[in-house]
Amino acid sequence: MTRIIPHFVGGSLITPKDGRFGDVYDPSTGAVQARVPLASEGEVRRVIDDAAVAQPGWAATNPQKRARVLMRFLDLVHRDMDDLARLLSSEHGKTFDDAKGDIQRGLEVIEFAVGAPHLLKGEFSTEAGTGIDVYSMRQPLGVVAGITPFNFPAMIPLWKAGPAIAAGNAFVLKPSERDPSVPVRLAELFLEAGLPAGVFNVVHGDKEAVDTLLTDDRIKAVGFVGSTPIAEYIYTTATAHGKRAQCFGGAKNHMIVMPDADLEQVADALIGSGYGSAGERCMAISVAVPVGEETADALAAKLTERVAQLKVGPSLADGVDYGPLVSRAAVERVEDYIQQGVDAGATLLADGRGFAVDGHEEGFYLGPTLFDQVTTDMSIYREEIFGPVLVIARAHDYEEALAMASDHEFGNGVAIFTRDGDAARDFTARVNVGMVGVNVPIPVPIAYFTFGGWKKSGFGDLNQHGADAFRFYTKTKTVTSRWPAHGVREGASFVIPTMH
Ligand code: NAD
Repeated sequence: MTRIIPHFVGGSLITPKDGRFGDVYDPSTGAVQARVPLASEGEVRRVIDDAAVAQPGWAATNPQKRARVLMRFLDLVHRDMDDLARLLSSEHGKTFDDAKGDIQRGLEVIEFAVGAPHLLKGEFSTEAGTGIDVYSMRQPLGVVAGITPFNFPAMIPLWKAGPAIAAGNAFVLKPSERDPSVPVRLAELFLEAGLPAGVFNVVHGDKEAVDTLLTDDRIKAVGFVGSTPIAEYIYTTATAHGKRAQCFGGAKNHMIVMPDADLEQVADALIGSGYGSAGERCMAISVAVPVGEETADALAAKLTERVAQLKVGPSLADGVDYGPLVSRAAVERVEDYIQQGVDAGATLLADGRGFAVDGHEEGFYLGPTLFDQVTTDMSIYREEIFGPVLVIARAHDYEEALAMASDHEFGNGVAIFTRDGDAARDFTARVNVGMVGVNVPIPVPIAYFTFGGWKKSGFGDLNQHGADAFRFYTKTKTVTSRWPAHGVREGASFVIPTMH
């Protein structure tokens, strides 16, 4: 009997007996290791029912007590870190250490959300008019939803849930159906930490479940991360149904390599950020833009040498640089892109197709792939590949490199490597991209800043984590208050009050 991964609803594990199911693979072996239920509309509505019942009591719990639940949750996740990381690796395919990083980056947002009592404070003005005080308060929205991608099955659910829960909302998570186990474990740990049943729920599913969340009136906000076409669909559908939405999509992150950059550092940075997690990161560098032919030739030679040394293998094996991709379909999609690059005339310096690991021949592996002489009209430049494929797109000068990153339809992350402060400063000011690294290849902002891409990488007006998350998950109420002395009568006024 194949194991079934349960939903987590109203504080309990729920294993449906019938309905639709999907397969969950172990990408390292290619075998089906479990089945995940795909919730029907009715099942999702019942989850929202439970969340709606739990939310008012949680909102009425003072913010300091809510924060203490998050503090206990941090301890519990640290207690179970290795088990969680192994579970995550076994469904996603990233290495054990990288899985721990996935969890840790999520915990950092929980640490930030522990500051909720401070972050939820309103503003106050005394004597805004004679005897008039004005103040504002931040109130939770009610029941909110998160719809998350496969590539960070711990981090992104926690980025959404931490601030939402700390602010007094109830949360319904619809995680990726490809690696759904870790979110369920996180829900169990929240319960163990003292979160009331029904405040954090996990419902598995596909489009049917998502569409129910997008159209049910009781869901007040939707936080999404995934591919751009789905991000756009979620944003337009959720907002058309009167919800707040913040939806983050795909990426094509460039790294500009100036002629004065330290090429050893650049090569290390490109190898780690291009091939780490098999390139399945929204902040992976997928385009290297060396400035000038000399820089490009030297960089291409260094990368070719390094790529040949990369070790690819099962996610839990020792000494592996990156593991398998998430699915057979992902391998086929990336291999198709490699062929498109060859057909378009790019120079293939390393070809990862047909890569197999001894004893794991059915695993979803792909060797590291490197292209040179890639031009901006090629699909391997324009589209997100989301695999271990790095392309070198040469620029004649700095202005051309800047324009390439700025004009690309995606605008998630970008980096510049240089020893020249003037160039770096100009670049950070002018580049049309949401997150910028200066000699930092994966500029994922720390938890108390906000994370969000521009252009086709992000839809909505508030970013994830940092102060924006608390703005997103709360509504502001503003109170104008006066306590006139007893018996004072001013009569009715028909003119709009001003502070004239
Ligand atoms: P995906 O868009 O396929 O799936 C994301 C979520 O949407 C999943 O929960 C999935 O079940 C749901 N979904 C899929 N198809 C749907 C449909 N037709 N209708 C409704 N819901 C649907 O993305 P993925 O493959 O899981 O994740 C990889 C993508 O996520 C990449 O494009 C990557 O760049 C992006 N990503 C972006 C960020 C960011 O912050 N910008 C972070 C991580 C990943």
